Amino acid sequence: MSVDSQTSTDELRLLAERAGEQLESASATEILRWAVAQFGSDWCVASSMADTVLSHLASEVLPGVDVIFLDTGYHFAETIGMRDAVAATLPVSVRTILPLRTVAEQDARFGPRLHQRDPDACCAMRKVEPLNRALMPYRAWASGLRRADSAGRAGTRVVEWDAKHGLVKLNPIAAWTDADVQAYIDEHGLLVNPLLSEGYGSIGCAPCTRRLLPGEDARAGRWAGTSRTECGMHV
Ligand code: SF4
Repeated sequence: MSVDSQTSTDELRLLAERAGEQLESASATEILRWAVAQFGSDWCVASSMADTVLSHLASEVLPGVDVIFLDTGYHFAETIGMRDAVAATLPVSVRTILPLRTVAEQDARFGPRLHQRDPDACCAMRKVEPLNRALMPYRAWASGLRRADSAGRAGTRVVEWDAKHGLVKLNPIAAWTDADVQAYIDEHGLLVNPLLSEGYGSIGCAPCTRRLLPGEDARAGRWAGTSRTECGMHV
């Protein structure tokens, strides 16, 4: 079956669940080729601009693929620089998605530093809602989630049903180790966010991201000191 406008949500869900099992041992490129066979260009990549591995892989199977970047207004300058460099150097179409309110408008409405007082509300307005809006035109989206990122991501399937968005979710590098990622970066000479060589393990908004301490997993520097591990985009 390939997906068209008549494909129902139930059919898409079954497709995702079957593919999650059948493609478990497939390479990232094979998984993305499957996406092209199923969805044509009706899918996108979501990138935090930590590195360009997934964007590069996707551009090889679908030149011009849409790459979504959620510009929360709180990013490090290095991350904005990465977004601009990706747009300039890779054959992808970067779509920068803005929240409905600027940071100044959010501060005026809810008070300054909402991220300290209520990160759930801040992420809901600056990440979750913009992502929901950005994904509306597609039947599937691809993320760079990896099982090695954290204990909470250990069960990530290479293809899964994203019930929240009603879309197929592709996690083509779910099984990759840190060494696999580095080998791909080295082999293709890819851009990497400079913060990753300055002690950060995962790149998010500046107020909610700190450098890693020895022995911590890659996402431990996100919302450190709280029980929070995800912003709501992937759960
Ligand atoms: Fe706000 Fe922090 Fe979430 Fe960014 S990561 S949207 S600053 S709470």
